Amino acid sequence: MQLLDGVLVSAHIKEQIKQEVTDWQAQGGKKPHLAAILVGNNPASEAYVGSKVKHCDELGFDSTLLRFPADITEAQLIAEVVRLNNDDNIDGILVQLPLPDHISGDSVINAINPAKDVDGFHPISVGKMVLGQPTFLPATPYGIMLMLEYYQINTAGMNCVVIGRSNIVGTPMTLLMSRNTNPGNATVTMAHSKTKNLKELCLNADIIVAAIGRPKYVTADMVKPGAIVIDVGINRIPDATKKSGSRLVGDVDFDGVAPLCSYITPVPGGVGLMTICGLMKNTLLAAKLRTNAVRGAALAQSN
Ligand code: NDP
Repeated sequence: MQLLDGVLVSAHIKEQIKQEVTDWQAQGGKKPHLAAILVGNNPASEAYVGSKVKHCDELGFDSTLLRFPADITEAQLIAEVVRLNNDDNIDGILVQLPLPDHISGDSVINAINPAKDVDGFHPISVGKMVLGQPTFLPATPYGIMLMLEYYQINTAGMNCVVIGRSNIVGTPMTLLMSRNTNPGNATVTMAHSKTKNLKELCLNADIIVAAIGRPKYVTADMVKPGAIVIDVGINRIPDATKKSGSRLVGDVDFDGVAPLCSYITPVPGGVGLMTICGLMKNTLLAAKLRTNAVRGAALAQSN
C-alpha cells in the first residue's frame, strides 16, 4: 500500500505556485488577490477560511477576508459580491459555504463574475467543465486530479465509484474522472443515498472516491484488493484521548481499508490539502487571465 501523501504533494505544488507568482511579477503582473466572504461564525467555516487566507500569505498572494453577521440579508450579500466583481484589485472571489438557511447559495454564487469564480461553482464554470472547455475547476476534485497526476496513476479504463453527488465534490469528480483526459478516462458510477447495491458496486471498483460525510462509512468488506481509495470526508468524532476531546476522520475506515489498497489518502493529510492547492492555482490563473484580457484590450485599442 502506498499513501497518497497530501503533505508531500501540496508542498510540491505550492513551491510551483510561488515560483509562478515570482515569474509573473517579474513580467509586470500584480500579486493575485483573493477575496473570501464568511457569513456567521460556524467553527468549521472559520477554520477553512482561515487556512485559505494563511495560504495566500504563504504563496505571495494578497487576500481580503470579509466577515458578515449571520443575519445579513441575501440582497446585502449579493451587493457585496457585486462590489467585489467591480473591484479591479480583486482577482478571485470565494463565498464560504454553507450559508445561513435564509440565503440562497445559488443566488449568491450566480452573482459572482465568472472571471473571478475561483471556486468553480458558477453555472458558467460548471457548463464549461461539462463541455471540456478551459475553466476554473471546483477545488476539491481539481486537487484530487492533481494528486493522481503527481503519482502518475493511469486511470484509463478503470472502474471508478464516486460516492456522493454534491455540486462541490461528487458531481464534478464524476465528470472529471470520465473525461477524455489523463487522469480520467475511467468508467464512472456515481452513487448516493438511494443507491441500492453500494457494496457490490464498490467491490467492483478500481477506484473509490468517498465524499459522503459519514465517518468511516467505507469498510474493508466493500473494497477490492488493490483498489485506489480517495477519502474526501472530513468528520469530527469524539476522542477522549485528545486534549480537544475529538479528532478528524474520513469517510473511509482507514485502519481496516488501507492494508487492502494499492493507494489511499489519509485524513487529515490527504485531499484537504489538495483542495487548497486547487483554489490557489485557480486564483493565480484568474489573475493572469484578467490581466492579459486588460492588456489585450489595451493593445487592440492602440492598433
Ligand atoms: P454533501 O452532504 O453535500 O453530500 C453527501 C453525499 O453523500 C450526498 O450526495 C448523499 O446522497 C451521499 N450519501 C449520504 N449518505 C450516503 C449513503 N449512506 N450511501 C451513499 N451515499 C450517501 O457533502 P459534500 O459533498 O459537501 O462533502 C462530503 C464530505 O467531504 C464531507 O465529510 C465534507 O466535510 C467533506 N469535504 C471535504 C473537502 C476537502 O477538502 N477534503 C471539501 C468538501 C467537502 P444524497 O444526494 O442522496 O443525499
